[in-house]
Amino acid sequence: MCLRTDLRWQSGNLDAIALGNVMAAELILIIEDNEKNLKLVRDLLQIKGYQTLEAGAAEPGIELARRYVPQLILMDIQLPGMDGVTALSQLRSDPVTAKIPVIALTAFAMQNERQRFRSAGFDGYLVKPINIRELLTAVGECCAQSTSHPGPLPAGEGGVASP
Ligand code: MN
Repeated sequence: MCLRTDLRWQSGNLDAIALGNVMAAELILIIEDNEKNLKLVRDLLQIKGYQTLEAGAAEPGIELARRYVPQLILMDIQLPGMDGVTALSQLRSDPVTAKIPVIALTAFAMQNERQRFRSAGFDGYLVKPINIRELLTAVGECCAQSTSHPGPLPAGEGGVASP
């Protein structure tokens, strides 16, 4: 399962090592107040080689975004205090964080809510319970867009011995 995604990230890791920059893994901020969801998303991303930052509410999440400028933010909509839609508008109004892709994590699946997330300016949304394949596909696409990917390794450079 997810073979293509796995190969892509293995290739990305090889590129990072070849460049002598093992800390090049994308940094992803997760803003989610549900501990089980947070743990699931964090564990999946870390297994795939991403670095993660975490916040359980919007305000500390926005602070982390300003300080570390992650490649991607996964934003729960229903948060204690400030909700995810308001948090997105604050991120977009700050030049430091305005360009960071933000994917909504939401329990809402109704069509009018989807429209609300689109018009609010989210770069995508994932419906909870989180589907692992959908999560990794969305994360991979956002990170590919937000960073200059070096492309595939040149043929014959992989050290594969000829028979
Ligand atoms: Mn929540």
